[in-house]
Amino acid sequence: MESVVLATRNKGKIAEFNILLKDFGLKVIGLDEFPEIGEIPEPGETFLENSIIKAQTVANATGLVAVADDSGLEVDYLDGAPGVYSARYSGEGPDGEGATPEKNNAKLLQALEGIPEQDRKARFVCVMVAATPDNIRIQSRGEWEGRIAFELSGREGFGYDPLFFDPELGCVAAEMSREKKNSRSHRGKALRALMEQWPDFWKKASQKS
Ligand code: IMP
Repeated sequence: MESVVLATRNKGKIAEFNILLKDFGLKVIGLDEFPEIGEIPEPGETFLENSIIKAQTVANATGLVAVADDSGLEVDYLDGAPGVYSARYSGEGPDGEGATPEKNNAKLLQALEGIPEQDRKARFVCVMVAATPDNIRIQSRGEWEGRIAFELSGREGFGYDPLFFDPELGCVAAEMSREKKNSRSHRGKALRALMEQWPDFWKKASQKS
């Protein structure tokens, strides 16, 4: 079975990727299997910059094909914030020291206090990059439109899922099963778009090595 390294230690993401990638006959190894690769900085101002940095760093360090994603929540009323800073939103300084999902959600609710439903539009964005140690790369992007709820609900998922309301399904992401979320989500869309390019990419990657 073909192996790829997923450039993350986020267990929620690894679980989602495993469901998505097993349909393509790919075995996913997480970064926990490579403790020598420390924390990878995300200095970019766009999802694409950060994804390229993460995928290429891991491909170079492991000698394997690496897949990275960078994702976040864009809220229209906040001019696209928290965006690439989604994970660090409630923290201090450029590294977002001390940020937690709970504090991020609380800060977001506060930032939107008193803002009516029609002005709470938001989307999850995911940009995905696959890279080989020879710098061959493909990339894709997925978006999931919704709005920010007025209170937290649900127990599934991670991050902003308890606040991200999908108007077509009438519930927040944290109330969806993993499979349902994958079928709707930014990450699911980006991954399916990446997989369309995969056979060609894999052929080129194999020719090089
Ligand atoms: P990344 O790990 O740098 O891609 O940061 C992504 C951050 O965006 C996460 O830590 C969450 O705060 C948020 N995020 C991205 N995707 C999701 C999702 O599917 N559900 C909830 N929050 C998400």
